[in-house]
Amino acid sequence: MALIVQKYGGTSVASVERIQAVAQKIKAFKEKGHQLVVSVSAMSGETSRMTALAQTIQDIPSLREMDVLLTTGEQVTIALLTMALQQLGCDAVSYTGPQVCIMTDSEHGKARIKSIDNHRIFHSLDQGKVVVVAGFQGVDENGHITTLGRGGSDTTAVALVTALKADECQIYTDVDGVFTTDPRIEINARRINVVSYEEMLEMASLGSKVLQIRSVEFASKYKVPLRVLSSLIDNPLGTLITREENIVEQVVISGIAHNKDEAKLSLIGVLDEPGIAFKILNPISSANIEVDMIVQSVSAREGLTNFAFTVHRNNFKTASKILNNVCKEIGAIAVQSDDKVVKVSLVGIGIRSHAGIATQMFEVLHNEGINIQMISTSEIKISVVIDEKYLELAVRSLHAVFELDKE
Ligand code: ASP
Ligand code: MG
Repeated sequence: MALIVQKYGGTSVASVERIQAVAQKIKAFKEKGHQLVVSVSAMSGETSRMTALAQTIQDIPSLREMDVLLTTGEQVTIALLTMALQQLGCDAVSYTGPQVCIMTDSEHGKARIKSIDNHRIFHSLDQGKVVVVAGFQGVDENGHITTLGRGGSDTTAVALVTALKADECQIYTDVDGVFTTDPRIEINARRINVVSYEEMLEMASLGSKVLQIRSVEFASKYKVPLRVLSSLIDNPLGTLITREENIVEQVVISGIAHNKDEAKLSLIGVLDEPGIAFKILNPISSANIEVDMIVQSVSAREGLTNFAFTVHRNNFKTASKILNNVCKEIGAIAVQSDDKVVKVSLVGIGIRSHAGIATQMFEVLHNEGINIQMISTSEIKISVVIDEKYLELAVRSLHAVFELDKE
């Protein structure tokens, strides 16, 4: 007998029929003799629907009230799923986050879990019940309801595994695991059998939307092996996310991620002197805008340099405005802005030990006539910013050359 934590995402509980199908799946696990704690998301589209509703009333909705609003989505699903289980003769009980004391800090909209009280859950498990817990939500020490950020139910599941010392964490979603790249772009994309936390973290932060980044960080910190599986397929294989040491057959490149939310801003003709990067980026970060890639060119003649960075496209307009002011203040020549760029990244622990992967990547892009606008690297990833019209071409040719379609 194992204690299993399962998480079902929004598309897996998108309708009454899907909820009933999930209940069947849970019942089958229960009948194998396992104990089950199930965490669920809101029905797909609900969180976005409620966010839009709030914005029709307040331009910038109250963060506290947003959390009160959004947590209702998960509350609907836990009740319906529990009813569906009961209807199948499978004893079950639902709990909201606050009911099982999922304690968080007070950062509304992006709270972090501090602790979970497992007593109630264990008590219900001992009574032979399936325990259904609302994902994405918690409560702070003053009793205010909080949420964990979009996709936060993944983190709830991982936190439940640590709090209960469960044997397994299964994340059920609408895809059959983590893929070498986006199957909508490359039909030969393959399901990855096993991948390290580190690589998954890079892929999640570089645009792969399978798991919330925080859930992978959490899993990595507490060494919780995660399995991503499809809730729509019977006997799915899925992808195991685990410690690098546990991976027997390591590959050089695990996947190609892409991010379409990028926008590039450049300041041309900046005096190359101490304090310049600070003067340019300080007003940007003061406006709460996150900067991703940063490139400063080698100083050319007359001690002038160019300074470029990328931001999320949602922040493009505000960032452009700020940069235009900075341009005047520091006496730079011009601002160039472009929100038609994307970021494509190669991810793999093999990059650490294989020289020349970057060169190989650049050669592929060169052969396709794709201009690289920016480059950034870390131990296990190489990212380039390119014109958005080359996204598909870049992903497909890299996928082929690095043979990601082959086992
Ligand atoms: N319902 C929340 C969202 O859509 C949390 C989740 O699904 O994980 O982001
Ligand atoms: Mg999700």
